[in-house]
Amino acid sequence: MNELPARLRSLLRPELAALSAYHVPDARGLIKLDAMENPYSWPEDMIEEWLSELRRAAINRYPDPSAPALIEALRETAEVPDGVGLLLGNGSDELIQIILMALSGRDAVVMAPEPTFVMYRQLAVAMGLRFVGVPLKREDFALDMPAIRAALREHSPSVVFLAYPNNPTGNLFDAGNIREIVESTGGLVVVDEAYLPFAGATFLPEVMRYDNLLVMRTLSKMGLAGLRLGYLAGCEPWIREFDKLRLPYNINVLTQISAEFALRRSAVFDVQVREIIEQREFLFDALRCLDGIQAYPSRANFILFEMLNGGTEQVFRGLRDRGVLVKSFHSSAPPLSACLRVTVGKPEENQTFLQALIDALAEYG
Ligand SMILES: *Cc1c(COP(=O)(O)O)cnc(C)c1O
Repeated sequence: MNELPARLRSLLRPELAALSAYHVPDARGLIKLDAMENPYSWPEDMIEEWLSELRRAAINRYPDPSAPALIEALRETAEVPDGVGLLLGNGSDELIQIILMALSGRDAVVMAPEPTFVMYRQLAVAMGLRFVGVPLKREDFALDMPAIRAALREHSPSVVFLAYPNNPTGNLFDAGNIREIVESTGGLVVVDEAYLPFAGATFLPEVMRYDNLLVMRTLSKMGLAGLRLGYLAGCEPWIREFDKLRLPYNINVLTQISAEFALRRSAVFDVQVREIIEQREFLFDALRCLDGIQAYPSRANFILFEMLNGGTEQVFRGLRDRGVLVKSFHSSAPPLSACLRVTVGKPEENQTFLQALIDALAEYG
């Protein structure tokens, strides 16, 4: 059976017809600079210590649904203010899904500036909610406040997602603009701080000031993407409601032990993050010197750059043929259609990428 027959197809929600599954390209044999992963592994003695911690994992038992040791480690290392509640998710992707599941009414509107992280739209559409994207300013991808004010008035969104810094553009939105949105909307505002380690700017201290502000974070980009752990911080009543929608065992035993272990050794990650930030600045300066390229400043661990003379897909293939995988937006709508996004790797990976880019541009550019 290749296609579902119509009588079975009619059992499915019609939204599914318009969706495709999240595609992850095959990276075998390539330098993987497409997914904002931390390129560094752990020191050998830390790996040994971790493995011996894992020995105490009771994998015959269900995990503790409230993950108290992990929550405690997060509260301490992330400096979560007293009175702020935390909800853990299987990646922040799951937290986005939980927030959307909680919204009242099939006609609820989910809003975000665009281009941004695709899961806000993907999950909203999958759940049959209405998604409204408000274009960012073309020159610098800043929030277009007149357009946002108008969209807030017109659509009264139930929730606004703001990635801070934004993916894939890399910039931090103006904090004053974000406060204005929080203060003027009747809906929830979720500030998504997936790239916090590289940006060092946060709204967490403000969640007690605003009853409609939530801050979402993840351990993925700092170096634990394989564990799948995100957390949502907000005032307790919100967290209590969302907790009703969380699957009780969403954070597995191995993740609970491993994430707590890693958080207690944050110095290792601080060193890695500093190196990545230095390399980001090196890469940005190098990209700025190339003809035919516009690189956008980034506060994250990736850089968006634009092919000013076209040939985006060819340059993407040229890089891949030389062993480097980046993310291409050539099949997206403008303003991204001439853009590639490179994740900052190890110094030698970044050098390989730069040389491959120079060669690919010479060939196709
Ligand atoms: C990568 C990313 C996430 C996803 O994080 P996970 O915790 O790995 O699901 C969330 N938001 C933004 C803006 C991202 O770029």
